[in-house]
Parts: sequence; structure tokens; C-alpha cells
Amino acid sequence: MKVLVINTGSSSIKYQLFEMPAGKVLCSGLVEKIGETSGKITQKKDGGNTKHVEELVLKDHSAGMKRVAELLTDKKYGVIEDTAEVELVGHRVVHGGEAFSKTTFIDDAVMKTIDKLSGLAPLHNPPNRVGIEVAKKVFSNARQVAVFDTAFHQTIPEKAYRYAIPEELYREHGVRLYGFHGTSHRYVTKQAAQFLEKPLSEVNLITIHLGNGASMAAIRNGQSVDTSLGMTPMDGLVMGTRSGSIDPGVIFYLSETVGLSVGEIKRILNSESGVKGLAGDNDMRNIEDRAESGDKSAMLALEIYAYRIKKFIGAYMAVLGRVDALVFTAGIGENSPLIRRMSLEGLDSMGIDVDLDANDFKGKKRDISSSDSKVRVLVIPTDEELEIAQQAFNLVHNEA
Ligand code: ADP
Repeated sequence: MKVLVINTGSSSIKYQLFEMPAGKVLCSGLVEKIGETSGKITQKKDGGNTKHVEELVLKDHSAGMKRVAELLTDKKYGVIEDTAEVELVGHRVVHGGEAFSKTTFIDDAVMKTIDKLSGLAPLHNPPNRVGIEVAKKVFSNARQVAVFDTAFHQTIPEKAYRYAIPEELYREHGVRLYGFHGTSHRYVTKQAAQFLEKPLSEVNLITIHLGNGASMAAIRNGQSVDTSLGMTPMDGLVMGTRSGSIDPGVIFYLSETVGLSVGEIKRILNSESGVKGLAGDNDMRNIEDRAESGDKSAMLALEIYAYRIKKFIGAYMAVLGRVDALVFTAGIGENSPLIRRMSLEGLDSMGIDVDLDANDFKGKKRDISSSDSKVRVLVIPTDEELEIAQQAFNLVHNEA
């Protein structure tokens, strides 16, 4: 069965076509700069050996999706003869609120709920919805499925998801922790259980997703019981450009005493903070290079970044009691031995001990803990697109 996975942003569409259940990527692509004066589409197949790049004006997402359909069926660059071969389209939808704890087929009621939830994710849900609308038209033979970033975290208990604020703000306005990166946390949880040769229902983990956005999750018996991102993707860890946890009083100070507008404060905390705020650059590779050559602000940014991870490890060890493994994933988690080493330094008293040679090793999924570490430390590449394809495929399979 051919499953197309789509991740629609405000001016972009990322897509991957899978053959399921094999999980083989037949083709992948990226549409960029939709609605701008010059758009771009890159499509790859044969594991990246055949690549097609074109620049063209794409007036809207519909134009982008139509061109994707042409490229997928192109004699030279495509992999299918007819768009009707796509039986399922799996959409990444960022916010499912409390309404969606599972992957779901999309009908009018689901669309309405995704709309309603836009208030909680104004930058993400509206473009996700547009992606669904245009895919319904262009891949009209396919069933459309929504996979929510928040769904995996719906098992978090109330004591962890509620904030200590007046109850009506939760009841009437949905102010609570929802968590994000759920598709990634779920994928690496399943991979870790397999690697550890334990049933998913028995595995306890701390999953650490470090990309441009970053979050950690406490996993008990294969289910999320706490996570570091909250109602919005701004809480918890230090990120590329987002501050992570900050005293809410800072916001009032910036407003009342410094005189910044709410819009300015929002921009600062979302786009000018995190590693970028501390060291002027949000690319961790550049920060590491600069720290190595003695740049003080880059060194401090690394320390703050790693310290915050360490604090959450301590918290989640306490939450879980027994932890089988820590799992590092995403751009930084998979590729930065330095961040892994710094965030785990001194944790041997908690039974966490890293083998420094294994930590430096570059390759695929691996165990980097020393032989006498009580808690295993794993590096597992995430694959959110494959997880979405699997979720969509399983939905059809379980229904049959
Ligand atoms: P996104 O959240 O956009 O999917 P990624 O998971 O691709 O992000 O992670 C992007 C981050 O990973 C960037 O900060 C980048 O610098 C970092 N990164 C990628 N490769 C390395 C590396 N070899 N060493 C350190 N950081 C890396």
C-alpha cells in the first residue's frame, strides 16, 4: 500500500511516499516559498541518488500540491503512474488538544475540531488544515488521516498536565500542558523497546528530543507520563531560538518596567532567545566550533543547554523510579557527542555512566553506556515521517 506523508507549514510542504508495511521510502520532497515571488521544489528518489530541483512561482498550497502530484507521476523523476495509487495520506497535525488521543481518519467533524484548536497553535494548525484541504482534492482517491503531535502525551496524568492556576482557566480555556514532538517520542520509544528486547508495555524511558525545538518525555510502561513542553512549544529545555522555562514574572517585568509590547516579548522569547539569544547563533554545530576555539558566550550557551537537560533527567528519574534507558534523538541528540557528554556528566551516582568512546562513535542506533551503567544510554535516530506512515497504515489495518 502506498502512503503519502505530508507536513504542511505556512509556506512549505514536506512529503514522503512510503511503501507500507515495508516502510520503504519511494520518494521524498520539499516545496518551499509558497506564496512568494520565487518558489522551489526538490524531489528525491533512489535513496537520494536521483534528485530533481525546480524553481517556479507557487501562488498557494494548492498549486504546490498539484505540482507535487505531477512530479510523483513524472516519467523521469516520479515513482508512480497515477495519483490514484496513493491509498492513504497521513498528515502531521501539530495540535490535537484533548480531543485527539489517537490517529484518526479525517471527516468534517475532525476538520472542525482542528479549526477550533487553532487558537492553541495559531502558527501550525491553520497550515496543517490547508494541507488536508488540498490533499483531499489532489489525492481524491486516498483516505486522509491526521496524526497529532500532542496525541502521544494524552496519557499524562492530571497531576502532571494541570498548572496551578484558577481551575476555570483550564475548564473554560483549555490552559494545561499538552506536550509536543509526540510522534518522535513515540517512534523512539518503540525503537528503544525493540533494542532492549522488552515488551513496549514494560519499558521505562526518558526520551530526549534535541532538534531546533527540544523536549524530553518520561515514559512509563511505554506511555508518556510527563513532558517538558507545555501548552505551547515554549516551555522546558533551552532550544535553538526559544527560551524554554522562564519565570513568568519576567514577562511582566519586560512589559511594565522595560516597556516592551506583548508582541515584542513573544518574538523575543520565541525567535531571539535560546541558544541564539545566549550566543547569537541557533546552529549547534557553529556554537560547538566557537566553544572549541575558546568563545566564552558559546561555551556558556552549551553549559546552560546541557544543565537544563540534566535537571529534567533528575526530575524524570524521580518521577519514574526505575528507568531502563535514556534515549537521545533528533539533530543534536543524534549527532552531538559533546551535548550528550555534558548533560550526563556526574550522573554516575544515579546509575548513568557513558562509555566515552562509544559516545564519540558515529553511526546508527547504538548503546553508548558503559557495561556497568544501570541505566542504558541509547542514541536512536528519529523518523517522524515513518511513524506517521505506520500510524496511518495501522489505522486502516485495525479497522479491517
Ligand atoms: P528540526 O527540529 O528542525 O527538525 P533537527 O532535528 O534537524 O531540527 O536538528 C537541528 C539541529 O541539529 C541544529 O541545531 C543543528 O546544528 C544540529 N546538528 C545537526 N548535526 C549536528 C552535529 N553533527 N553536531 C551538532 N549539532 C548538530
